Amino acid sequence: AVALGEDDGEFDGFPSLIFVSLFPGVILGFSLRPHNLSMREIRYFAFPGELLMRMLQMLVLPLIVSSLVTGISSLDSKASGKMGALAVAYYMVTTLVAVFIGIVIVMIIRPGKGSRDSPINKSGNIEPVQAADAFLDLIRNMFPPNLVEACFKQYKTVYKKTVYTRNVTVTLNFTDSLNLTENNLWGNFSRVLHTVQETVEETVPVAGSSGGVNALGLVVFSMCFGLVIGNMKQQGQALRNFFDCLNEAIMRLVAVIIWYAPVGIMFLIAGKIVEMKDLAEVGGQLGMYTVSVIVGLLIHGLLILPLLFFLVTRKNPYSFIGGLLQALITALGTSSSSATLPITFRCLEENNRVDKRVTRFVLPVGATINMDGTALYEAVAAIFIAQVNDMDLNFGQILTISITATAASIGAAGIPQAGLVTMVIVLTSVGLPTEDITLIIAVDWFLDRLRTTTNVLGDSLGAGIVEHLSRGELQDQDAEMHNSVLEE
Ligand code: ASP
Repeated sequence: AVALGEDDGEFDGFPSLIFVSLFPGVILGFSLRPHNLSMREIRYFAFPGELLMRMLQMLVLPLIVSSLVTGISSLDSKASGKMGALAVAYYMVTTLVAVFIGIVIVMIIRPGKGSRDSPINKSGNIEPVQAADAFLDLIRNMFPPNLVEACFKQYKTVYKKTVYTRNVTVTLNFTDSLNLTENNLWGNFSRVLHTVQETVEETVPVAGSSGGVNALGLVVFSMCFGLVIGNMKQQGQALRNFFDCLNEAIMRLVAVIIWYAPVGIMFLIAGKIVEMKDLAEVGGQLGMYTVSVIVGLLIHGLLILPLLFFLVTRKNPYSFIGGLLQALITALGTSSSSATLPITFRCLEENNRVDKRVTRFVLPVGATINMDGTALYEAVAAIFIAQVNDMDLNFGQILTISITATAASIGAAGIPQAGLVTMVIVLTSVGLPTEDITLIIAVDWFLDRLRTTTNVLGDSLGAGIVEHLSRGELQDQDAEMHNSVLEE
């Protein structure tokens, strides 16, 4: 890899990051495990990792807004329309393929077959969620009523028990006992007897909010804003310059943080290894479930996505992935595709030389809505829970799981273990017990890292594919700019 790096300038930082952060992190973690550190000690020990997380998260918000606004405003409407359509098509197709792979694997391995390994703690505090409300929340979050609030709050339906009384009319119906002909009027045979008051207890959806950035709302706003100022010709120039400078400044800060990243990742990984329970304890059904998710993610991330990349671009997908290693290891260390976003930008632009007009447009959107790994994991987990409960799912239910797992992955924020929360939607949609999520919590921190890495990989390969397919529009635009400079 070093030799390749010298050849073509790719893989910048690749060897250093693996040898400086990943391996020492794993070794340090395992060598500290026998010392049985307390939770407090582990927290102090992992502090440098926590700092990296905080620095990356600090940049995410201005990065999403500035890159999308500059990205879209610098494209003409033909190019941005085509790029947007390509990106959305890629996201939908690859997410559905990921779900399909997950379903096939979990049906073949059947990790949940046999009697249940562990009892369920029914008192678990998992909130019920209606799939319809969750879907509406997804759309509501696209239109935040307050942009400042969207920087730290998302809309989320909560449920409130209400008791009220209502009048009910009691009618006497003759229709059941009489053989009616078509000409008989239904009304003739029923008579209102009296009205009674009935007490109803109902759980109603009410407005609520949860913490965390409403990235989806900011993405939608920034895209519309970018489109508008892009069309404002001379009048919009000051705003375009402002966001362009902001974006450049943020990317320079990213370049500084990159120097610290290996240290941070080393401590993030070491801290988690010290903290984790003995992996040998994860056997039986949970072990097979873990294997199913890993096999699915590997097939999707290392075979299907690269194959698609190769078929479209005719370039070597694995050397493209080599240029992404910094981002992939950061995803593994942080469990957050949003926090990894700054590094993903650097890898694609510096190592893989993807056009900035493409990365600025598709990466923030991808990190927010395109989560192949999460969708695959949600489908596997839901079917695993059905198997554990000895529930045979019919074709309709499997289709429902595919659709809700896709929607749940779009709705999941790019933060650690967000997928575990949105899984409630998938489970309720087919009537599976939500408290069974507690069955898989023990291994979720680990699977979260792997699915986040797959999510980042999917976004990055998508950027390469979209760039390849939009090169005609990009070249046209370059020629236009060149001509206008010459005219001036
Ligand atoms: N942690 C994942 C991500 O940031 C989301 C998930 O929990 O699946 O991409």
